[in-house]
Amino acid sequence: MVVHMRHTSGHTRNRRSHHALKVARFETCKDCNAKHLMHRVCANCGKYRGRVVVDVLKKTVKAAKKEEGAKPEKKAVAKKAVKKVTKPTKEKKEKKETKEKKEKK
Ligand SMILES: [Zn+2]
Repeated sequence: MVVHMRHTSGHTRNRRSHHALKVARFETCKDCNAKHLMHRVCANCGKYRGRVVVDVLKKTVKAAKKEEGAKPEKKAVAKKAVKKVTKPTKEKKEKKETKEKKEKK
């Protein structure tokens, strides 16, 4: 077995001193006055530095169409999942109960 060098709590804290999250910086769009991340396309109007980069209307229409198409499939999957959940066997119930008891302890 390899002998590791001593790792103090100070070393750990020093390393973790760089793990803090930075606050996201927002800018107001010059065209529509909506807030957007710096150096990113405005999600409201699809412009970056006054130039249209993303066709927002086309994207929203496409997303709506996709949702409409996906809805029936999702519902079918959800119903199957519900059926599975509502009909657990006695053995499974007992296992669940024992697991919950263990977690409580
Ligand atoms: Zn904008």
